[in-house]
Amino acid sequence: MSGEEFRRAGHRLVDQVAEFLESLPKRPLTPNEPPHVVRAALGTGPLPSSGARPQDLLDQAATLLFEHSLLSAHPRFWGYIYSSAAPIGALGDFLAAAVNPNVGAWNLSPLATEIEAQTVRWIAELIGYPADSGGLLVSGGNMANFVPFLVARKVKADWNVSGEGLRAPAGRPLRVYCSAETHTWIHKAADLFGLGTEMIRWVGTDAELRMDTAELRRRIREDKESGDLPFLLVGAAGSVSTGAVDPLPELAAIAREEGLWFHVDGAYGAIAAALPDASADLRGLSLADSVAVDPHKWLYMPLEAGCALVRDRRDLIKTFRHRPPYYHFPEHEGEESVNYFEHGMQNSRGFRALKVWLALRQVGREGYVRMVADDVRLSQALYRIAQEHPELEACTQGLSITTFRYVPRGIQELLTRLQRSGETFLTNAVIRGKFVLRACFVNFHSTLADVEALPGIVTRIGAEVDAELRPQDLRG
Ligand SMILES: *Cc1c(COP(=O)(O)O)cnc(C)c1O
Repeated sequence: MSGEEFRRAGHRLVDQVAEFLESLPKRPLTPNEPPHVVRAALGTGPLPSSGARPQDLLDQAATLLFEHSLLSAHPRFWGYIYSSAAPIGALGDFLAAAVNPNVGAWNLSPLATEIEAQTVRWIAELIGYPADSGGLLVSGGNMANFVPFLVARKVKADWNVSGEGLRAPAGRPLRVYCSAETHTWIHKAADLFGLGTEMIRWVGTDAELRMDTAELRRRIREDKESGDLPFLLVGAAGSVSTGAVDPLPELAAIAREEGLWFHVDGAYGAIAAALPDASADLRGLSLADSVAVDPHKWLYMPLEAGCALVRDRRDLIKTFRHRPPYYHFPEHEGEESVNYFEHGMQNSRGFRALKVWLALRQVGREGYVRMVADDVRLSQALYRIAQEHPELEACTQGLSITTFRYVPRGIQELLTRLQRSGETFLTNAVIRGKFVLRACFVNFHSTLADVEALPGIVTRIGAEVDAELRPQDLRG
């Protein structure tokens, strides 16, 4: 690609993206097309044998994506905890890809490594975690939980788990404790990292879906008595279903007394600890040995960006340092420098930190506090509206997640139709066996007017479903 060609294609693409972003509120949230329609739009030809003009390809790709995507930045998207992406993040990814530093080793990415280190520090500062903790950017919340899980396994196993594995002669069954509301990453971690999912102790919850600490203490005691090794306690700073926050200071105390690693899954809610009125329970994440944060959620970053924070960076190195003879990364005498391949699971690493760093500087702490507080307020407004609405039943409200029900029958079909409507996008939770609609606000495009429009959409589509289910019913 010549410089001139790149300039022309690039400018044109930026113009198209800018128009797309401006047009979001007027577009359907989703085209709701079945797979065969999407495939037909794409075409099913073989690998092209010859090339094409970049500008034409970009035009085509942009049009296809704009027309056949679900739009998370639509003002009425309140589905999965999946943010409206800040435009500066897209520009940051563009710049990062153009320079292409390999943020695995300092010498391959001098400035990018320092930007990542600063970004990690700033994220820690924002949520009230020690700014001198270790940490790194990863692809998302799952990975941001996996990294501390592996560190905890390494640090807490009192035998050579790296060399001999979990089934070492001196090994004992490693037990992990978390509430039944924990995100499914814990299944993957227990499975993939050799513990087995049966080693998870699912601790019950109270009326607000927070971990029952009396049960937790009892189970740790029982497991110790039978010779197991309780090694990891996972607390939620915002559960995925309802935004429930476990009593983190109490969990920290229990972990300390019992000698467990205390990890907080803050993939969704950790950023809310920056709010001036954050609860003491949420602020308790500052006591954890590690915290998972997910910038592609409440820092409004485009996918992908997660962040694992580990209080003592030496524990990261203990877990992830393997130095093969074919690596030669000379140190800078008398100076500390970070080689991130020794802090996490990846070897070559992209420059995810740039977009996050730019966004943190674009709006600062105050900007984030305002946007996050706005999301919380919209969620609270929806809860009140649902409480007052005769056909809706408000269920839970935590952080920026509201759950509610449509009272007549057919709520699962209603959710499917809502998701296909293109008017809004909700998801569901199952709370104590009850299927509820769930709206999660991580969207700086949403306004109170958008929230106020939701009951009308839900009850209109709900009435259609209800009528089909019970055509003979003369209700109302
Ligand atoms: C979203 C979420 C995860 C997983 O994060 P991904 O970025 O989707 O990998 C883990 N835990 C909680 C509480 C979450 O909300």
